[in-house]
Amino acid sequence: MIILKIGGSAITKKDAQEPTIDEVNLDRIAQEVSAYNDDMVIVHGAGSYGHIYAKKFGIGDVISNVNDHLYKLEGVCRTQASVQLLNYIICEKLHEKGVPAIGIKPSSFIETNQKRICVCDTKLIQKYIDNGFVPVLYGDAVLDQNEYFKYAILSGDQIITYLAKKLKANRVILSSDVDGIYTDNPKTNPDAKLIDIVTKDTDLLLTENENQADVTGGMAGKIRELLDLAEDGIESHIINAETPGNIKLAVSGQKVKGTIIK
Ligand code: ADP
Repeated sequence: MIILKIGGSAITKKDAQEPTIDEVNLDRIAQEVSAYNDDMVIVHGAGSYGHIYAKKFGIGDVISNVNDHLYKLEGVCRTQASVQLLNYIICEKLHEKGVPAIGIKPSSFIETNQKRICVCDTKLIQKYIDNGFVPVLYGDAVLDQNEYFKYAILSGDQIITYLAKKLKANRVILSSDVDGIYTDNPKTNPDAKLIDIVTKDTDLLLTENENQADVTGGMAGKIRELLDLAEDGIESHIINAETPGNIKLAVSGQKVKGTIIK
């Protein structure tokens, strides 16, 4: 079984003022995904469909009073509706390409405690896989057991690590809008060098994407999740979804330029 993450930065225009799809990328990526015919789970990021609301409403921040709570309720509703819409658009595109994609809403069965998944029954997902479906999950706004902030943003990256362990994934592929992990952010530092292999001992400049509207920790958050996965012996591979052919090659098990986290 493989788990494929489609980065929010590849399928949406992440820095847009409003939720915006990158139609060209989505169409091509869905076509490439359809090349794989074995067990697979897809997780996609929220991109501009999630980060705009999550940031505006401060989901995951401590709730200060009754009015703030009402504001957060609106925020959770808007975030959930927006990312669910993105999931619908992605599943429709996958259906068009012949992929039996089944959208599964994370906030309907996952709860966090201190922003980490603590309730998540994966049996149903396994059943869908066993029946030949491709479950498609995504970053979402969820209930958190912490009484001070009550709600949290659950990143697609955390879902990946959790599912990879529970469902015993053979391969984990993450596609983003850069070739992999660099010594520094390649979008702002032209001297940044691509790192082939990252382990817990690799010395990295983990920037938190200050210039982007990302509330899930960007590449730094991703690396933390994937190193956690590597501790359990599951390697992951970060590749660029914007390079045509990459996803098709990666899902088929062929070598692609990128970073391996082990
Ligand atoms: P996605 O939405 O595709 O999951 P993110 O936007 O969360 O991905 O993270 C990818 C972004 O992280 C890249 O676009 C890049 O600008 C930024 N980034 C910051 N530091 C690094 C780094 N050291 N190596 C690679 N990318 C980095």
